[in-house]
Amino acid sequence: MEKRYDAIIVGAGMAGIYAVYHLRRLGLSLRCFEAGSSVGGTWYWNRYPGARVDIESMEYSFAFSDEIQQEWNWSERYAGQAELSRYFEFVTDRFDLRRDMQFNTRVEGAHYDAESNDWLVMTSDGARHRARYCLMTTGLLSAPNKPDIKGLANFKGAVYHTGLWPKEPVDFFGQRVGVIGTGSSAVQAIPLIAEQARELTVFQRTPAYAVPLRNHPMPEEYQLRVKAEYAEWRRKERYESFGGWVAVDYQPVEPVTGSALAVSPAERMALYEQRWRNGGLAFYNVYPDVYTDLAANNTLAEFIRGKIRERVKDPAKAALLTPDYPILMKRLIADTNYYETYNKDHVQLVDVSKHPIECITETGVRVKGAVHECDSLVLATGYDAMTGALTRMDIRGKNGETIADHWAQGARTHLGLLCAGFPNLFIIDAAGSPSVVFQPVFVMEEQINWVGECIQNLEASGHATIEATRAAEDAWSAECERALHATLFPTVNSWYVGANIEGKSHAGLIYLGGMPEYRRWCAEEAAGGYPGCVLGKREAIALS
Ligand code: NAP
Repeated sequence: MEKRYDAIIVGAGMAGIYAVYHLRRLGLSLRCFEAGSSVGGTWYWNRYPGARVDIESMEYSFAFSDEIQQEWNWSERYAGQAELSRYFEFVTDRFDLRRDMQFNTRVEGAHYDAESNDWLVMTSDGARHRARYCLMTTGLLSAPNKPDIKGLANFKGAVYHTGLWPKEPVDFFGQRVGVIGTGSSAVQAIPLIAEQARELTVFQRTPAYAVPLRNHPMPEEYQLRVKAEYAEWRRKERYESFGGWVAVDYQPVEPVTGSALAVSPAERMALYEQRWRNGGLAFYNVYPDVYTDLAANNTLAEFIRGKIRERVKDPAKAALLTPDYPILMKRLIADTNYYETYNKDHVQLVDVSKHPIECITETGVRVKGAVHECDSLVLATGYDAMTGALTRMDIRGKNGETIADHWAQGARTHLGLLCAGFPNLFIIDAAGSPSVVFQPVFVMEEQINWVGECIQNLEASGHATIEATRAAEDAWSAECERALHATLFPTVNSWYVGANIEGKSHAGLIYLGGMPEYRRWCAEEAAGGYPGCVLGKREAIALS
């Protein structure tokens, strides 16, 4: 029998947890389906060695509840995967959210039924469910990208993807391990795998920019101080910061203004050195023209390149590990002993930039005719970001169009929230949203608040459906495109612009116009009575 709810929420990661909390408070009946056996999303699946947040724990946490902020104590400056998982379990249980969640249940499809104006949701247990509203809290980096490398299926050893890591600890002791990829996941995993492996071979296509994380136990005095001042920290993070976090040297800092080229080299170096000593992603908050001007960008890029050369002893390895493209246009990585790991004799770096991996054999990875023997392989090859979680599901709108077809030429959305032809389907922290450059925690909280208000407005005004117009999608795509091309982001191949997935368009994937602008667009849309949408009347629907 089909069960019917007011809203179905897909995914119990950070956004799913908040969606259940918020929509329940609005009085909606709910069901949240989650493929994993518990909550946490990214922090549930990414159990690879070294998985750890790179925004300070005090800031990378739910802001919607001061009870949670006061009750939870972080043990490290940057929490690891296990602690983050415990935190999400704590929040879920604290608000008794589990009773609206169903685990070990993957949503395989969602079809809009134009007769009833319901979403018909099909789950992996063979059941079908109905709901008026469907919220896709499926995550921006949750659809693993398994590279299409010839022979992968023939490999006789174990193969792991960082984003689908087993629950049981993996023991690489005494093994020859190959790691493919040098993005954030690989950079975190490599130093720890190297501690166990007999031989570690890293296959690098593009070198990363990594800076020290400088993690350590949480200073108790700092935790107490932030808790006492949380309201003010959150206000600054949300409204007065560059990326949604503000801590540098344990103080909230103002965004830097002015050009990197307008100050003396000594002044610039002093700022960069301070960011270096602080650790983590503090480099995102430097002169704003590093995002838009190649010469300004190069001042920072050259500073970090110099640090890489200092950290790697072998000049040949250092040269391979030093990027030559603009910094911050691929995600900056915060590392713990990454470059130092290459100073170990049993760690080899294989450059596959000009000569790609030819194939995987039964016993290893072949590059330029030579097989690098491995007992286990780690695919740290990233995600079909922003869109993959949705395009891999069978989502069909009112005319039977799939979301994959709708997004075939680019991710068409209105404000990263709604799509034309998909009434009452809300997408969160995904295509067309500013989540990649602003704390995703704040983006999702604000998006879900917007959706809650939208649902209340629909109910109050006697409307049953909302969907974006094609014109609004065109306008948002154009706005995303304008903001993207005002930066250096399109000059570098990254998942931000879909370059890691063959044939994927960059259009509409990310919004780089900044959170204040995004907030303004969303507020105007709601205040103006949803001019970018078509609203369906309840009576009209009942008659049709
Ligand atoms: P990623 O940044 O996309 O890195 C994937 C790596 O795999 C890249 O080095 C890529 O090379 C390489 N690769 C892919 N296919 C390949 C092939 N066929 N042959 C050789 N190399 C190949 O993925 P990720 O490291 O999982 O990180 C994704 C995002 O997740 C990050 O940017 C970050 O936003 C987030 N993340 C955050 C944290 C954290 O907060 N601490 C940790 C992990 C991930 P190319 O660069 O040449 O494409």
